[in-house]
Amino acid sequence: MDIKILATGSSGNCYHVSDGTTEILIECGIKYADIMRKLDYNIGNINTVLISHAHKDHSESAERMADCGFDLIMPPETAVTLGLDKEPNVFTPEPGKQILVNTLIVIPFSLVHFNSDGSDCPCYGYFIASKTTQEKLIFATDTAYIKNTFKAVDYMLIEVNYMTSMIDGGETEDFVTEVEKRRLKSHMSLETAVEFLERSDRSKLKTLYAIHGSSKRLDKDEAYRILEPYAERVIVP
Ligand SMILES: [Zn+2]
Ligand SMILES: [Zn+2]
Repeated sequence: MDIKILATGSSGNCYHVSDGTTEILIECGIKYADIMRKLDYNIGNINTVLISHAHKDHSESAERMADCGFDLIMPPETAVTLGLDKEPNVFTPEPGKQILVNTLIVIPFSLVHFNSDGSDCPCYGYFIASKTTQEKLIFATDTAYIKNTFKAVDYMLIEVNYMTSMIDGGETEDFVTEVEKRRLKSHMSLETAVEFLERSDRSKLKTLYAIHGSSKRLDKDEAYRILEPYAERVIVP
């Protein structure tokens, strides 16, 4: 599969995935014009947009994409929050329920995420398997941890948001407010990502993308050094 990161992090997320036959976007949390520009205006072949949850950095262009006729997949609560629940091209599968997107089998799974007021924010990760290349991918971001385990995936795009050492008792001089601590708790730390990798079947893992990193709370070189043993290729964008 070909994977392109158009944007990642709290200022916007958008990922382009193609198995050579089917092209999809995961997240559309940047301006529509920026999506177009970053794809050199080649968006005619994009079949579907998968969205994890309603936060703007993942859904900014959702309404526009729906208006433009793209199919969208998202949690049912996200469709309601975004005012897209009546749209005929918006699909809201239950977790574990498979949807066929041309040659891609897409299965959503539930993640653990919160709004800034502490309330629950329904959020999906996606398991994607290609009938063309026989490869498998998992995508999971904006989650305290990942409950599920997966067999022999080829690609992982998982959140590595912050390092615990850069919050408490670390070298950072920055004061971490209670609000920020609460926010961080709904994201995945490097340490939690490592736990997930430890219990995952990594026998086929080709590329690990450590996505949605914080510019302030993650030392990317250090993260790369720690993650490097876990996959043939590690990318910390
Ligand atoms: Zn986010
Ligand atoms: Zn979020």
